[in-house]
Amino acid sequence: MKTPSHYIGGEWIAAQATLPIVNPSDGQTIGQIGRGGAAEIDAAVRAGHAALDGEWGKLDAVARGRLLTRLAELIRRDADRLARLESEDVGKPLTQAKADATVCARYFEYYGGAADKVHGETIPFQNGFLVTTSWEPHGVTGHIVPWNYPLQMMGRSVAPALAMGNSIVLKPAEDTSMTALALAELAHEAGFPKGAFNVVTGLGEEAGAALTAHPGIGHISFTGSREVGQLVQAAAAKNVIPVTLELGGKSPQIVFSDADLSDAGATIVRGITQNAGQTCSAGSRVLIEDRIYDDFANDLARRFKATRVGSASQDLDLGPVVNAAQKKRIEGYLDLARKDGLKILAEGEFGTNLPHEGFYVKPTLIGDVPPHHRLAQEEIFGPVLVAIRVKDEDEAARIANDTQYGLAAGVWTSDIGRALRLSKKVRSGQVFVNNYGAGGGVELPFGGMKGSGHGREKGFEALYGFGTMKTVTIKHGV
Ligand code: NAD
Repeated sequence: MKTPSHYIGGEWIAAQATLPIVNPSDGQTIGQIGRGGAAEIDAAVRAGHAALDGEWGKLDAVARGRLLTRLAELIRRDADRLARLESEDVGKPLTQAKADATVCARYFEYYGGAADKVHGETIPFQNGFLVTTSWEPHGVTGHIVPWNYPLQMMGRSVAPALAMGNSIVLKPAEDTSMTALALAELAHEAGFPKGAFNVVTGLGEEAGAALTAHPGIGHISFTGSREVGQLVQAAAAKNVIPVTLELGGKSPQIVFSDADLSDAGATIVRGITQNAGQTCSAGSRVLIEDRIYDDFANDLARRFKATRVGSASQDLDLGPVVNAAQKKRIEGYLDLARKDGLKILAEGEFGTNLPHEGFYVKPTLIGDVPPHHRLAQEEIFGPVLVAIRVKDEDEAARIANDTQYGLAAGVWTSDIGRALRLSKKVRSGQVFVNNYGAGGGVELPFGGMKGSGHGREKGFEALYGFGTMKTVTIKHGV
């Protein structure tokens, strides 16, 4: 695939229009991708149905699993190349991109092994009847992923859908489509039948909207912002199809005086600076018990000052953010903090030789933020951590729950009773006790509560989400 193309029905289809690929590290255009729209999406959905009626639909679960396992091997073989593409496209430090490639491989490996382990039941019913249930694919599933962790998000969304026997149409984010196209090349090499795996690149409001509105789609898996998630759910409602929405967060890290504070400090700073804070489950609010607030905030400040920002290839703690709009958005929040007189406790360092036109932002720690301030309520999606003082467990739980989101939470304490009570009280899809991070753990069901979305990805839960159950009732007499 040399010229900008879409991967449809097992072939590379030259793009009719293009979009630039911009490297966030230096702001330079490094290539072009296709700008697909309704016509390309329609062709991809048709190819998906043809695959279900043809070779792909006839494969048994073992054979499907082997294809996924083969794809996992190819992703591992090419992990360095994929990591380079990802770090150029997203701006993330090379080491972080390499970890993403490894996690992507792990998704295909996990679901490759799971494909033939999804089975139904027999149900005791009236005498003279045999009742069985079985799982079937939805048909052609649509997958819309964001730009922050393209390789991870694609593996997470696409692998379980394929394992369940769906054909997939993937629409990567317009800012970061290079590894989606590389994945299509590898799926081709792995031997996926024509039309099982389709990729159409393009803008959200064009290719993305066409995919969500297409009547031939049986399920939509969307990862992205809350605003677009609402549009996706509305589009799915028109076609009466299920959706999985993996949306944003404003996840709290709750720190008590009896915790291992050194471990907590290091993990919390890494959690908000990783991927330049562009992580849905980033712990972006730290709720600190009053009696240790000053000391712990000082420790966080020291760690923030030691973080270094560089280009993706310099491979420091943080790279640039993904584009100029994202940089402007984060700077807008920092301006608001200054205007409202919030205390900037610390900033990270720009490394040397930063390319002038790159989209760099300094990681910033802000102290004593009122819990209802916009900085404590809204998803900034950048390396900005707000610290909030809490007097006890009850106040911590109340403030932790007092946003529209419910994606992840961290609880740092050596009191097991308190850890268990808070794990129960905090309304979020994931609670981490004395650890934090959703990136690994492909086995662990993941998703949101409240405004962070619904449905679960990862683990076996995701497989069931990409399937629909059929009940067969057979009368054989007594
Ligand atoms: P976004 O919603 O702007 O875009 C996500 C995807 O949706 C892109 O592929 C985009 O092209 C597409 N899109 C945009 N408009 C569309 C439309 N009208 N119809 C269909 N598709 C459309 O989000 P983003 O800025 O790329 O990503 C950041 C957001 O994603 C943050 O809110 C973050 O928290 C969230 N996110 C959530 C998870 C999770 O697992 N919960 C993971 C990563 C990112």
